[in-house]
Amino acid sequence: MFYLDPRYLCFMLPAMLLMMYAQWRVSSTYTKWSKVRNAMNITGLDAARRLLSSGGSGANIESSAGLADVRLAGIGGRLTDRYDPAKNTLYLSQEVAQHPSVAAIAVAAHEIGHAVQQAEGYLPLRLRSLMVPAVSIGSYLGWILIFGGLILGLAQVAWAGVLFFSLGALFAFATLPVEFNASRRARAMLAENGMLHSEQDARGVNEVLNAAAMTYVGSLATALMQLLYFVTLIGGGRRRS
Ligand SMILES: [Zn+2]
Repeated sequence: MFYLDPRYLCFMLPAMLLMMYAQWRVSSTYTKWSKVRNAMNITGLDAARRLLSSGGSGANIESSAGLADVRLAGIGGRLTDRYDPAKNTLYLSQEVAQHPSVAAIAVAAHEIGHAVQQAEGYLPLRLRSLMVPAVSIGSYLGWILIFGGLILGLAQVAWAGVLFFSLGALFAFATLPVEFNASRRARAMLAENGMLHSEQDARGVNEVLNAAAMTYVGSLATALMQLLYFVTLIGGGRRRS
């Protein structure tokens, strides 16, 4: 079976190493800057409230109306902070909400960046949201068709599976502009609201946001290598038969 295929490891190992490195870097960068107090001595929750009430300045004027409706809520765990567009709710982890660290304002501002994207109707975010149902069905169906096709020796079925499976890679690709843009907005909002008081704060916010960005590149690399593996597996199988 494919999981015993040494070629699978050859394809996946570099992507897996990149992903592990990216996750280690996020975690260590976040830990480092969680221990550093920001110059304004404000928690992530304070920062989120300020940015929401300022209407996320640096964004369109129209977006401030949408931001007024954003709810704030707590969520368990570490680095679990996220903005849920469907519920228009910003979930902050305890560490971010309650600690006045450099990491806390970076994470809170990034999530507000997503809320501003939603309020503005930022196109890449809308496209990504539209892809969600197709991607979750596509990856299941992809696996079934690929392995069904390979076992039954039906190359066309397997190729159809690859097509469905590729939606996952497309989704990982669509995630990049959304995430990079949220971080860009975060830096701009913090600066424009006078919340980056020291050079150290600015450097810390940058480090945290850049480390997070790398995990999305890692996800894309993983998805692409998996896709490439299936392509060579099915392509190679067809040539041999
Ligand atoms: Zn994000």
